[in-house]
Amino acid sequence: MAHTNYRVTEKGYYGDFGGAYIPEMLYPNIEELRNNYLNIIAQPDFQAEFQSLLKDYVGRPSPLYLAKRLSEKYGATIFLKREDLNHTGAHKINNTVGQILLAEKLGKKRIIAETGAGQHGVATATVCALKGLECIIYMGEVDIERQAPNVARMKMMGATVIPATSGSKTLKDATNEAMRDWINNPVDTHYIIGSVVGPHPYPEMVSRFQSIISEETKKQLVEHTGSPSPDYVLACVGGGSNAMGMFYHFLDDEHVRLIAAEAAGLGVNSGHSAATSVLGKEGVLHGSRTILMQTEDGQVIEPYSISAGLDYPGIGPQHAHLHKTKRVEYVSITDAEAMDASLLLSQLEGIIPAIESAHALAQLEKMTFKGDEIVVICLSGRGDKDLNTFMKYFNL
Ligand SMILES: *Cc1c(COP(=O)(O)O)cnc(C)c1O
Repeated sequence: MAHTNYRVTEKGYYGDFGGAYIPEMLYPNIEELRNNYLNIIAQPDFQAEFQSLLKDYVGRPSPLYLAKRLSEKYGATIFLKREDLNHTGAHKINNTVGQILLAEKLGKKRIIAETGAGQHGVATATVCALKGLECIIYMGEVDIERQAPNVARMKMMGATVIPATSGSKTLKDATNEAMRDWINNPVDTHYIIGSVVGPHPYPEMVSRFQSIISEETKKQLVEHTGSPSPDYVLACVGGGSNAMGMFYHFLDDEHVRLIAAEAAGLGVNSGHSAATSVLGKEGVLHGSRTILMQTEDGQVIEPYSISAGLDYPGIGPQHAHLHKTKRVEYVSITDAEAMDASLLLSQLEGIIPAIESAHALAQLEKMTFKGDEIVVICLSGRGDKDLNTFMKYFNL
């Protein structure tokens, strides 16, 4: 088989995807980041502080847990990478810790971010409190109403939450507001993007900060099984950051089969879905060339999923490339399948997963295993935030 390079090029591309499609007024900000991020991340004092915060503040390494009863049910050896045990309850904190240190090194005093469901807003407000930096979170007016507990968390940690009142008053409008802010405050402000999306170098930078997930997993697999290579690695995909972190150090090991679970919502053909790899076409979204759900005339289609974190109309550019080259298999999981998987994990293992993570778990139902195969699943977050949804859905 011909060798395919899955990594980013000098110009910021993964095959046909990536790049920086941004208004001219954002060029200086993006250039400053692009010219400096690799040097800063490589510095010993950056690495020392990053590793120290991951250990003592986030609580890493997160365990690689052998789920015995789940393994018995599916006839494989199934490990869960426990990102749900991180401080703030998900993988998102790995990235915000990295970016806040970067912002500090760049001399930035003010942090902005956009958030949909509020999880990235909370992870950003957390590290701003940690570093005593001003924190402005843009959030759609509709989302502010739907996600009141996360808004309260952000405010409690000292963040200012600014409602986006244009368009559908959701994530895409919050993103536009954050971009406008950054254009107006280029010198003192850093924009923390929460997934492997946006203009280069964001997708690459975020995947590097999240790559700690697979770095730890390989070492932990050696301890458990004697080998760093499992047969399968599974993760859910919204923008794709927990999946990129989980896949990162396995990409060049072609024996490891990588599977990414997208949210099918009510069904891929129901008109209420977020299954980008099936429904999407190539185009530009949030500053990069990728695959996104769009109408014939290029209007972004509102995605739908029961899990707010997977409710995104595109996937990051590296995922678009991994899809096109078939290095990663993209599968679609409905709301109902994910909810069943949430209940199953809760009752078999005493672990209530985030509904996002349950999309990866649900794929187990569709696989058949040959005896002693080894499977790693990224449990990207815990289900506390989803309790209201569980209560309504299961009539608890
Ligand atoms: C935000 C979120 C996701 C989706 O984001 P990715 O960038 O695709 O990882 C998945 N799981 C949890 C728990 C989340 O909070």
